[in-house]
Amino acid sequence: MARAHNFNAGPAGLPLPALERAQRELLDFEGTGMSIIEHSHRGKAYEAVHNEAIALVRELLSVPESYHVLFLQGGASQQFAMLPMNLLPAGKSADYILTGGWSEKAYEEAGRVGTVRVAATTAVDKRYTRIPRQDELTLDPAAAYVHMTSNNTLFGTQWHWLPDVGSAPLIADMSSDFMWRRFDVSKFALVYAGAQKNIGPSGVVVVLAKKELIDGARKDIPTIFRYATHAANNSLYNTAPTFSIYLIRNVLSYTKEIGGLDEIERQNRKKGELLYAAIDQNPDFFRAPVERESRSFMNVVFRLPSEELEKRFVAEAAKERMVGLAGHRSTGGIRASLYNAVPFSSVKRLVDFMKDFAKRA
Ligand code: PMP
Repeated sequence: MARAHNFNAGPAGLPLPALERAQRELLDFEGTGMSIIEHSHRGKAYEAVHNEAIALVRELLSVPESYHVLFLQGGASQQFAMLPMNLLPAGKSADYILTGGWSEKAYEEAGRVGTVRVAATTAVDKRYTRIPRQDELTLDPAAAYVHMTSNNTLFGTQWHWLPDVGSAPLIADMSSDFMWRRFDVSKFALVYAGAQKNIGPSGVVVVLAKKELIDGARKDIPTIFRYATHAANNSLYNTAPTFSIYLIRNVLSYTKEIGGLDEIERQNRKKGELLYAAIDQNPDFFRAPVERESRSFMNVVFRLPSEELEKRFVAEAAKERMVGLAGHRSTGGIRASLYNAVPFSSVKRLVDFMKDFAKRA
């Protein structure tokens, strides 16, 4: 079997050993005579998997005891609403730092729930090519929270430092760079991330939330939308997406086996450096629209001399089993997503193809 070189922006590739384990265990999970998908979410077999997945997130990221690790549904898009429903009370305002299409969506959705402010935006003609500087942030010292998007999936920018937001709770949408390396969880009040880029299939959003923040959250909202509900029920208030969480368990237990997030970061940096070097080495043909200090290691965005050449590039690459290279429909261009499970060999293959294509074009 020849596996594709998968550069999809999400859902994205998963590590082969995690998939093979699922294949081995699919019909008979640990001698129970049935698949994990067929088990009750309240039974012992599934509960062990569920708790192992949560424990692995905790261990790999050194999540402090003072934080909940939650597995929720509805994707990061639901978090755009759930966050202000819980943490933006009447009479308060929340600050949003706009760095791309997803942070705009988070801001707009929060505006339907309460009062929001733009603390900074780096949009020029609706395009974002950089992360703001600290001195560009105009923060409300009384903000209920400050929201940032740590990696901008569409535009290919990423924060490589953390903004100083004073005593306001810092909240991050980490959907497209969650667990690409270790980070200091204690710097954030809450982090949320869809699983489908770095750590599993779609269907789960991981939330890390400071316990005291959740305890003080609004209680006058529907039960299912309260973080406190899910925290009190170990993310089993309603029927959990058991197969997705099982696969997260497989991915993270494999991640631990190969050396944890330090090894993942080493691989991710090597992949990103190789691809950006290929772009920079041929400035007459390839152009990276993103400012250098804001470049993302997860989504590498670049342009070719014409849209016609970009179309040909994507089509010819697909013939060689390199998939997912077309930029987002709103931005165009080329985007190669180099999430945790993309092997170095796929990036090498892409870089060789780029060199050859530039020569022929
Ligand atoms: N935030 C970011 C940074 C994303 O990349 C995405 C998905 N690409 C979302 C939010 C939305 O996630 P979902 O589709 O899971 O709701």
